[in-house]
Amino acid sequence: MEFKSLEFNISKDTEKGIEYLYVSFYGSFYFKIPLSEVRRIDKHFKLNPKNSNEIIFTINQEKAEKKFMFLIQRFMNELKSKITGNKTIYLHENSDIPLFGLQFIGIIDKGTDMIEVKPLTSCNLNCSFCSVGEGVKTRKQIDFVVEEEYLVDELSELLDLKVKHDPKTKISVWINPHGEPFLYSRLLDLVKDIAELTAVKDVHIITSGTLLNKKIIDDLSDINKKVSKNKNNKLKLSISISTLNEKIAKKIMGLNSYDPNHVLEMIEYATKKEIETIITPVYLLGVNDNDIEQLIDFSKKHKLKISIQKFCSNKFGRNPIKETNWENFTEKLKEWEKLYGKELVQTGEIGKSKELERPFKKDDVIQAEIKFSGRFLRDKVAVAKDRCILIPNCQKQTGKTKATITSTKYGVYLAKG
Ligand code: SF4
Repeated sequence: MEFKSLEFNISKDTEKGIEYLYVSFYGSFYFKIPLSEVRRIDKHFKLNPKNSNEIIFTINQEKAEKKFMFLIQRFMNELKSKITGNKTIYLHENSDIPLFGLQFIGIIDKGTDMIEVKPLTSCNLNCSFCSVGEGVKTRKQIDFVVEEEYLVDELSELLDLKVKHDPKTKISVWINPHGEPFLYSRLLDLVKDIAELTAVKDVHIITSGTLLNKKIIDDLSDINKKVSKNKNNKLKLSISISTLNEKIAKKIMGLNSYDPNHVLEMIEYATKKEIETIITPVYLLGVNDNDIEQLIDFSKKHKLKISIQKFCSNKFGRNPIKETNWENFTEKLKEWEKLYGKELVQTGEIGKSKELERPFKKDDVIQAEIKFSGRFLRDKVAVAKDRCILIPNCQKQTGKTKATITSTKYGVYLAKG
């Protein structure tokens, strides 16, 4: 049996003396099945040493498949993040959990010409300025991952709705998780499947660039060539690098192993492979001022676009400095524009598109079914009318609950129980 999202290994808990089938799920998550359980299906089962996605059973295939899938479903409840060790919830086609309504996972449609797609939560860095508080030392207690096919199908349906309303609709899809997209082992499948949807104008991948390597960029470049027409590149990489100084980089990216030179090398390689690459540093006033200037210089030399991000303080993020106001930020950009002769102030207009229906409005009292915790154990995710709703500080653990909608902004639903 071969799986796209699962990889197998044998592991041993030396303390307990138990052997396990270690199942790596979408690259960054895992669960373990006691080997004795797998041997109960077929004591002669084997793993393919040349293909970690394959497990080989020597008995009747149909029977083995049925029993093995049952084991997978059973132990999937123990899914965890490899990075944080957090319990992880898997959203898939048969899970009965909609992909709309939550800020941190699934699909966000604001009724513009841009849709955000979030296939997972988890990050391999720990940036001191992370607006969503992700990373190896995150305080968040639950992680999430979405089935690739489910994400593409739901996005495709949403695009159909928009095109039905206006056949000329063209949408930019931003793969912009609360975390690092290249931790999702099927990211290339996801990018290709999204880019092939007719209504998709382009696909932006928002990344720190740390997990990129030449092989991944070669594969992205192949996909780009296949899906792009008339030299209009469909794939775009937005790489967040905020300093070239190794010492400062390790400090602000929150990880000793962070190497800005690797990221620079990948930026140069992606450009060589004709993937449009945009540098997106975060400007931390008083921390990386000189570094931002060096990055502007670098972008000029390499003919790259640069989009400097304003640091915004966030209740659930990490806030190393006080937030500056937009006027001061824009003034600074204008100053650098003059100094470096490079356009830095963003002027692009956001287009509109038919928005996914919002079944609730503020103050509606609804009945919803509690499904699981949100990013924190104290919060709950409930479902009603094909939308997820986050109920912060909800005491109830399961079952139906009455809740009052407190916010519907951007199709993200919050309620109080
Ligand atoms: S800012 Fe981005 S790269 Fe840094 S910790 Fe947060 S999600 Fe990860």
